[in-house]
Amino acid sequence: MRLRGTSQFNDQGHLEIGGCDTVELAEQFGTPLYIMDEWMIRQRMREYMQAFQKTGLAFQVAYASKAFSTLAMCRLVAEEGLHLDVVSDGELFTALKAGFPAERIYFHGNNKTREELEMGLDAGIGWFVVDNFNELSMLSSLAYKKGLTARVLLRTTPGVEAHTHTYIQTGQEDSKFGFNLASGQVHKAVERCLQYKGLKVDGFHCHIGSQIFETDGFRLAVQKLVTLSEECRNLFGFQTRILNLGGGFGIRYNEEDRPMSVDQYIFAIAEEIRSGFSEKDIPQVVVEPGRSIVGEAGTTLYRVGTIKQIPGVRKYISVDGGMNDNPRPALYRASYEAILANRTSEQPEETVSVAGKLCESGDMLIWDIDLPHVKSGDLLAVTCTGAYNYSMANNYNRLRRPAVVFVRDGYSDVVVRRESMEDLIKNDRIPNRLLTPNGQC
Ligand SMILES: *Cc1c(COP(=O)(O)O)cnc(C)c1O
Repeated sequence: MRLRGTSQFNDQGHLEIGGCDTVELAEQFGTPLYIMDEWMIRQRMREYMQAFQKTGLAFQVAYASKAFSTLAMCRLVAEEGLHLDVVSDGELFTALKAGFPAERIYFHGNNKTREELEMGLDAGIGWFVVDNFNELSMLSSLAYKKGLTARVLLRTTPGVEAHTHTYIQTGQEDSKFGFNLASGQVHKAVERCLQYKGLKVDGFHCHIGSQIFETDGFRLAVQKLVTLSEECRNLFGFQTRILNLGGGFGIRYNEEDRPMSVDQYIFAIAEEIRSGFSEKDIPQVVVEPGRSIVGEAGTTLYRVGTIKQIPGVRKYISVDGGMNDNPRPALYRASYEAILANRTSEQPEETVSVAGKLCESGDMLIWDIDLPHVKSGDLLAVTCTGAYNYSMANNYNRLRRPAVVFVRDGYSDVVVRRESMEDLIKNDRIPNRLLTPNGQC
């Protein structure tokens, strides 16, 4: 079991994160509980910034807030000087409410509504990453009507798809996202941007996958965008000012995962950029890490409840959360590691499977993990849950979404409070015809 960030085992044999004993956190805040290691989040953001500083290129690092978006998280991102990606009015609202500087925001999405475009325009966000021709004309007319100029990147589908250890070149890519590169849609979009009122196109965007462990896919994507930039210079006299290469940098969920270092990813991208552009034409380079900023900084703490041994088959231990707070194992067969947070010094002695408490057989968090002899009442810490856990959490079975705490230097602060029973029904309404004459249920 790998200890990450500020995690360590204390003298009582408890897991400690950010100087806080997780056994005490469970007592104070209840379980399930998302714990975020603030120091580690900041550290990861600084690694990206420093990696780029070493390359000497002009750059931006935009945190993809869909991985984990809350007011406090937006404050951290702002403080560390990063940019921010949003993909909906809700994420934009969160960023603006947190006081995040609008001019550092990128707005993504393949089906932005008129209301979303207007919200972005009115807030004065930095860039719209325009995905298709409908959006291009709608954005143009909205911006023109408001007397504004929307800054635009064009999302391209470059025909490169990166998987964990390999990439494939798909040529004609079948994707709901972006302007197709091979068929000339991107060129046409550039031409329209230059004709339409209310738009200023700065460059191109692509996002080639997620949980990527190699650099070849990024290199190939850069090469494709270099060629595109040359073509658009020749065709339209267009100068690419920004190249945004998306996110997808891999993290280590378990021992089999072998991500590269942030330095290696950024170095490969920078090298490819420098070899593709002449010095005076080098655009600003943007990356958009989400998972790799917050993923490893998160730990979910559960209380073990019932234990079921099926002789000769399997031992299930059930915890007080599950696919409502972490849908990834059920959705993608994602694999996680865990330890007993209250008994870290004990050696593993049995193989068990960790089940959630929701009404689905597929509600499993971990299949086959070696742990010390697990007892009801133990605390199970599932590691690496910082990305796409809270942000994907839901109220299936009317479970309340857990609280989120930031821990740092012995301080623990609730950044999202646990939902209450009242929260669960606050949007429910009973139509009059279902009420009894005296107005009661
Ligand atoms: C999801 C997404 C990201 C972040 O991906 P990670 O795998 O979390 O790094 C970045 N950019 C775009 C456009 C995305 O859709």
